[in-house]
Amino acid sequence: MTSRIFRSVFFTSVLTLLASLVLVLGVLFGAFENQIEKELKSEAGYIAYTIENGDMDFFNRFSDSDKRVTLIDSNGEVIADTEADAGKMDNHSDREEVKEALKDGSGTKVRYSKTLTEKTVYYARKLSNGTVLRVSTTQYTIITIVLGLLQPLIFVLVIAMALSLFLSSRVSKRLVKPINSIDLDNPENCDTYDELSPLLHKIINQNRTIAGQIEKARQVQEEFRLITENMSEGFLVIDKSAKILSYNSAALKLLDAEKAEDNVLTLNRTSGFIDTVTTALDGRRAENAMLHGDRTYNLIANPVFNSGEVIGAVIVIIDVTETAKREAMRREFTANVSHELKTPLTSISGFAELMKAGGIPEETVVDFSTSIYTEAQRLITLVTDIIKISELDEKSDRHDWEKVNLYELSQDVIKRLKISAEKKNVSFTLNGGDAEVYGVRQILDEMVYNLCDNAIKYNREGGRVSVSVKDGDKEATLSVSDTGIGIPQTQQSRIFERFYRVDKSRSKAEGGTGLGLSIVKHGAIYHNAEISVESEIGKGTKMTISFKK
Ligand code: ADP
Repeated sequence: MTSRIFRSVFFTSVLTLLASLVLVLGVLFGAFENQIEKELKSEAGYIAYTIENGDMDFFNRFSDSDKRVTLIDSNGEVIADTEADAGKMDNHSDREEVKEALKDGSGTKVRYSKTLTEKTVYYARKLSNGTVLRVSTTQYTIITIVLGLLQPLIFVLVIAMALSLFLSSRVSKRLVKPINSIDLDNPENCDTYDELSPLLHKIINQNRTIAGQIEKARQVQEEFRLITENMSEGFLVIDKSAKILSYNSAALKLLDAEKAEDNVLTLNRTSGFIDTVTTALDGRRAENAMLHGDRTYNLIANPVFNSGEVIGAVIVIIDVTETAKREAMRREFTANVSHELKTPLTSISGFAELMKAGGIPEETVVDFSTSIYTEAQRLITLVTDIIKISELDEKSDRHDWEKVNLYELSQDVIKRLKISAEKKNVSFTLNGGDAEVYGVRQILDEMVYNLCDNAIKYNREGGRVSVSVKDGDKEATLSVSDTGIGIPQTQQSRIFERFYRVDKSRSKAEGGTGLGLSIVKHGAIYHNAEISVESEIGKGTKMTISFKK
């Protein structure tokens, strides 16, 4: 801007200077010419007067004058001339000024030399005797004068240009200085040209609008950050060259990356990941499972379009390890259930088939019927346990929660198990005192029943079962100890798995389903309780459930 102002001022002043010079010279020269014409006329008047009064000697007196005087007769023949021999001069009847004078009484003409460096101004006047008096003077033309003045003119021009250069530069700087000193962030405090007020008001309004928009954008970004940072799913936004534009910390955590590198493909080199990313960047939605260490991830990538063109992709990484595990367990459970159901059903079907065929002795029929009954009972128990475990699996909230006294509950269970304990000659003791927990009575009952039932089933003839209920500040505990066969150390962690039995034939002989401890474990989880096992082969087992308060 400064240079533009400078250029404008400089060129304007130089042009003005040149124009003024030309005009001044023109005016001066015009005035000079008029002056010459006037002089010629007055001189002609004076000479005419002299000649008309019979003084022909004036030619001699004029010989030194800078004017040339010529006397011409009415035929154009030169009678006398102050500078040349009249007899040798051409006939002047064709000269414009002479023609005009003869016709109108006077005439003026200007003639230039061939080189245009000189011009001669003629003034002719018709005298009373019919002759024509012509006075002329030769002057330099304006070109000659300008050329003669060229050196001083150039000198003046150079000085003037330098001055204008200096002044233009100062003026332009002084003009621009207040504009440059405007604080665009706080234009309201600026002291500048009044003419700039509308512009400054516009800037103030625009500043407000921009500040509002920036705040809005910041809020949106903050909301976006809060949402993505609180997501347990990994989230990545990439451009069409797979460069990472945005990500959340869950993405880095899931992919075990410390920082998001430039290209998303540097985060993971598995084919599943690369396929998902490239498919999305090809414009198609992609969903793939990906194994990462011992975890299973579900990768979902959606292309992002703009005007029909893929400009990037959004990738979501979901940790589905638990879901995958549950799925696997469910599949295993279904397979196990089918197997467990098939065995008693096959027996029932076999016995029934034999009985249907007939011809079986009376006492065998009773044996067969007993077997069918036993297997049917086993099926009922199995199905009942499966239903219980499925209910606990679903974490159903259909149950009624209430305060349950574990001591009273244990008394009740022991009462119900009295007969089976007596059958095995196993004695029961209940120690401790009242301990109230908040829970679902039916589930708590099943848990205590299964523990006590196992303590009888896997006990030795004449053994003991001791149930102990304790109430503490932080937790209430219930433990069931027996003097039974014990559980090998290596298998203690597995006995809570569905259908897991240490000794399958003994479990079956005792009418076990392999689901009892699984129900206990699920019941404990349901009540946010913990279960622990202490066992020694041949000495016995102690199982303790700790209910947090
Ligand atoms: P089951 O119906 O076979 O008893 P559980 O889930 O209740 O199934 O128990 C799983 C396995 O754990 C049993 O088959 C048994 O081998 C072992 N077990 C459970 N309780 C005891 C115990 N008190 N003493 C010894 N072994 C036990």
